[in-house]
Amino acid sequence: AQERYGSVRDLPAVTKDGKRVDLLMNAGLMADLPSLESSGAEGVGLFRTELQFLVRNKMPKRSELVVLYKRVLDAGNGKRVVFRTLDIGSDKVLPYMKPTDEPNPALGWRAIRVGLDKPGIMRMQLQALIRAADGRPLTVMFPFVAQFEEYRAARAEVEKTLELERKLGHALPEVLDVGAMLETPSLAFAPQKFFEEVGFLSIGGNDLKQFFFAADRENERVRKRYDTLNVSFLSLIERIVERCNSTNTPLSFCGEDAGRPIEAVCLAAIGIRTLSMRPASIGPVKSLLLRVDLGALRKIIADARHRGDQSVRPAVMDYLRDL
Ligand code: PEP
Ligand code: MG
Repeated sequence: AQERYGSVRDLPAVTKDGKRVDLLMNAGLMADLPSLESSGAEGVGLFRTELQFLVRNKMPKRSELVVLYKRVLDAGNGKRVVFRTLDIGSDKVLPYMKPTDEPNPALGWRAIRVGLDKPGIMRMQLQALIRAADGRPLTVMFPFVAQFEEYRAARAEVEKTLELERKLGHALPEVLDVGAMLETPSLAFAPQKFFEEVGFLSIGGNDLKQFFFAADRENERVRKRYDTLNVSFLSLIERIVERCNSTNTPLSFCGEDAGRPIEAVCLAAIGIRTLSMRPASIGPVKSLLLRVDLGALRKIIADARHRGDQSVRPAVMDYLRDL
């Protein structure tokens, strides 16, 4: 696939009506790093740090993490790399952590909830990131933030860790960008102040969709009932775009749908201008973006909604067939 899309690899994704969309890649393992070069990704929009923890049989040491994160930043060579702090729990259980035996793990003690309740692990990870950056710019993102206070508490943890590292004589990052994933519907309705304070937001569409439709992302039977291009879901995303625009909060989308060309062009049409996806999706998504007019797509989406269509997909497909 990479060969097939070689001709667009070094082109920016600019639509027919001149709108630029930044395409980044999702990663998590060292094996993903060469794709930064080969895919033409403009950076890593989501580095799932838990994957390094999941492939081991014991908790990695801080010094090991420093080495790993350094390699990631070196491979990034100045491109943006968004490190998501540990997103464990739910479907991602560490073999060396005591199982929690929860009736609904997806709604349970996971991600930032674990991070805030057990700040030792989060602190260790933040220290490793700061040391790996060694003065370079650093971007950190917290997963599964459901309310403003969780972001504030996580942010305070970052400040505490910076102070600790400074005292220990480590170089602090030249720029530190701290953001959150928006993957619970509640965060879309957070106070305006949250949108002003957060460094950036990235929509985790996999979880956001699961919680919006109350449909388990792991359960094929129910998952497939609900289209990402469902008008109600798109309305939620548009609302997030509007709120971010009103506070100049950088917004991206890093769920699997970002890597599906039809979904990707619709997300761009409703105002998402940064998409992060698996590396192999960058070519196909870019090829379609180069051919569409976002203004036309926006009108098609608005008309479909006006008619009361359940999903905008059929109308969008008609448009794409005529291209
Ligand atoms: C998401 O929920 O969309 C996301 C990107 O995170 P993960 O798939 O790792 O839960
Ligand atoms: Mg998620």
